[in-house]
Formats: sequence, structure tokens, C-alpha cells
Amino acid sequence: MPRLAPVTNATERPVDAIAALYGPADMAKLRVVVLGAGFGGLELATRLSESAAEHVDITLIDKNDAFVFGFSKLDVMFGRTTLADVRAPYREIDKAAVTFRQETVTAIDPAAKRVTTDRATYAADVLVIALGADLDPAATPGLIEGGHEFYSMAGAAGLAPVLGGFESGHAVIGVMGTPYKCPPAPAETALMLHDYLVERGRRSAVEISIVSPLPTPVPPSPDTSKALLAAFAEREIRYVGSSTVASLDPGGSTATLHTGEEMGYDLFLGVPLHRAPRVVIESGLADANGWINVEPTTLATDHPDVYALGDVANAPVPRAGVFAERAAGVVADRILAQIYGGEVAPYDGYGMCYIEFGSGNVGRVEVTFITANGPQGGPFTAPSPLLAVEKENFGTSRLHRWFGR
Ligand SMILES: Cc1cc2nc3c(=O)[nH]c(=O)nc-3n(C[C@H](O)[C@H](O)[C@H](O)COP(=O)(O)OP(=O)(O)OC[C@H]3O[C@@H](n4cnc5c(N)ncnc54)[C@H](O)[C@@H]3O)c2cc1C
Repeated sequence: MPRLAPVTNATERPVDAIAALYGPADMAKLRVVVLGAGFGGLELATRLSESAAEHVDITLIDKNDAFVFGFSKLDVMFGRTTLADVRAPYREIDKAAVTFRQETVTAIDPAAKRVTTDRATYAADVLVIALGADLDPAATPGLIEGGHEFYSMAGAAGLAPVLGGFESGHAVIGVMGTPYKCPPAPAETALMLHDYLVERGRRSAVEISIVSPLPTPVPPSPDTSKALLAAFAEREIRYVGSSTVASLDPGGSTATLHTGEEMGYDLFLGVPLHRAPRVVIESGLADANGWINVEPTTLATDHPDVYALGDVANAPVPRAGVFAERAAGVVADRILAQIYGGEVAPYDGYGMCYIEFGSGNVGRVEVTFITANGPQGGPFTAPSPLLAVEKENFGTSRLHRWFGR
């Protein structure tokens, strides 16, 4: 593989220079190995295949056979849809430069840019790690025995019948610590639980509380937090901010917060602690905080031509698909600049998030996290049925782009 010019010196056009030497037909393709076919990996593979199919050879590896949006888990949990309906099988990916492999990554050698899976070994010219975050319910004493996590697909699907049988008592939605995926999701869960109980005629028999490490539901956007707190007040949902759940006592159905305060519950819906996937830790890629260290504006790791993006990286942005997607765009631009030359705009940590407010209404918040003045809350758009349609279109447009649906 000819060594392509580094991005920072990309004033000439490396592809033209190589083609002049070897002839276009002989030019080796850049081998891009993408680990993880979630929000970030799918967007990256799509962008590169769209823009440089003749110059790249992309291997996209994921242990699962299908992609599912994070927000679909809430719909499955509340019986609004089924797991079968929200799965997008990877076999549908049909892109010129992309080969999908359903394999489990077992080792990553970032210095050699070599990846081992349960089936094969891959050598890369550019390696992109987009393996997301794993859940660690066992790290919180009592959570597995005394509560239900709803952040995995299995957890959300398993909760549907549990919720169907829940008639009365105290429902606690509790977060075990930061960082966790989609910071507004516990608030959305509470509002959706309210609707679910109203529809079943059980709302007056149930008390709903949220225990969150965030002082307000969406700290970088005071307008969004204000709207959510107003929605909670209208529905008599209690918000306990700046708190995490340290343990559960399943016998007594009691949650102990990190402050020592105890809270009785009849139904516990938990957001477990998040960790980098085991292979990332075992390969020595995690920093002292447990995530892959990246240069925030480029997503470059400490190893040349190795990038990390999305939930697995320590960029100063929330763990959410929209941030992984935008980061993938920046990494794609950097790889394309390596091929074609040109300048690349830095990653700005901008994200636009839809938030379920219940009763068929969705709100929208925009925040830019990487600025000289720290996170900047952008406009908040009040909840409406129109934004519910926009959220739906957000999902279908991704399925169209990534899977050709
Ligand atoms: C309830 C809930 C609601 C959410 N709502 C939203 C929302 O409304 N908007 C939003 O933007 N985000 C939302 N999110 C967050 C969003 O789902 C994640 O932040 C996003 O998917 C992260 O993208 P990623 O590419 O970094 O990782 P992921 O999408 O998690 O992809 C990582 C991939 O790596 C694979 N993988 C992991 N380990 C291995 C291995 N060893 N070998 C092979 N493959 C492996 C996994 O199977 C996975 O497919 C929500 C999440 C939850 C749980």
C-alpha cells in the first residue's frame, strides 16, 4: 500500500501523484477497518463509500446481525412496537466499497493497526474504533436481582411484560452514574411511563420519581430543562437531581443513593454504569478514565492513523448517536483529505436531539459542545406533533442512507 500524504500537509493531491507514478489501475486502495456498525461506524462507512469507492476498501465489523436505534428501545419497552420491527439487518448493506463482517473483535493492536476477531485477522491502513459503550449492571449491588435495566435491547424487550403487570406503587427511574447514553432518556422514560399508565387507567395508583446525576434534565440548555421540569410538575413526576443510585436492596425494595438517602420502590428502571467494551480495555486503549483518549477536534488517538469516535471516545460531548454521527463525518473528511488532499474543518461537538415529551409531542434541542467558551446551548423548539414527524423522518433518513431502505 503506498503511504498517502498526511492530512496536515495535504496541499498536493496524493491520489494524482500516485496515479502518475503507478497508473490509476494499479493504485492500491486504502484499507479502512471500522470496528462497530452503530451510529458512528455506519455513517463513516457510508460517507467513505459514497465519496471514494474507487480508492477505499472498507471492512465494517460488528458482533451483532442488526442495527437498532437507541430510542427504539423505549418504544419496544412500552409496547409501541416490536423488536422485529425496529431491527435493520446488516445483510441489507449494499455499498460499493463496504464489506460487512459479523464477527466479534477480540484484540486490537493500535501500533500495528491490526485487528483480531473470533474468525480472522485484519490489517488496516486506517483503523477506526467505534465500538460504543457496554453496560455493566453487575457493578451496582442489587441492580440485577432487584431492578430492571432498559438500556439494552434484551432489557427493554424483557420489560414490556413487566410493565404490563405493574398496577400500583412507586416506580423509580434511576441512573447509576455518568457518562451514560442519551442524557435526556431517563426524562423521556418517565414521561412515556406516565402516558402508558394513563392509557391503562393506573396512573393515580403510581408515583413516579427520577434519580439523576444531572442537576437539571439537560444542563447545557436551560430552556429545555425548564420545559421538562414543567412537564414533570404537570404530571406529578418527582425529579431528584445531582444524585446517583449506589445500590439496591432487593429484599427490602430500597434504593440507596450516593448521599446515603434511601428510597423505597416497587418497580426500578435502571440505567447501569457504562464502560468501554472489554476488548478496548484489554488492548490497552482505555485511558485512566476508562475511555479512548482522542484529540477532541480531530478524533485522532495517540496512534497514527487510528481514530476513535462515538460513545467509546473521551471527546467532551454526551454519549449520543447524533454526536457519533457528526464525529464520523469529521473522520471521513480526514480520510478523504488523505486521499484527495484539502483542508478539514475541526469537530465542533454539535448535536441536535429530539426529546419525547409524551402525548405524541416531541421537542428539539441543539447544543454545541466544543467551543472556546465551553458548551453552548442553541435553540430549544417547544414540543409538538410536527417534531414527532421530524424525529420519525430522522430515523427513516438514516435507514435509507445506511441500508438503502
Ligand atoms: C434508551 C436509549 C435512547 C437513546 N436515544 C437516543 C436519541 O434519541 N438520540 C441519539 O442521538 N442517541 C440516543 N441514544 C444513544 C445512542 O444509541 C448511542 O449513543 C449511539 O448508538 C452511539 O453510537 P456509537 O456508534 O458510538 O456506538 P453504537 O451505536 O453503540 O455501536 C457500537 C457497535 O459496536 C459493536 N460492538 C461492541 N463491541 C464489539 C466487539 N467486541 N466486536 C464487534 N462488535 C462490537 C456493537 O454491537 C454496536 O453495534 C439512546 C440510547 C439509549 C440506550
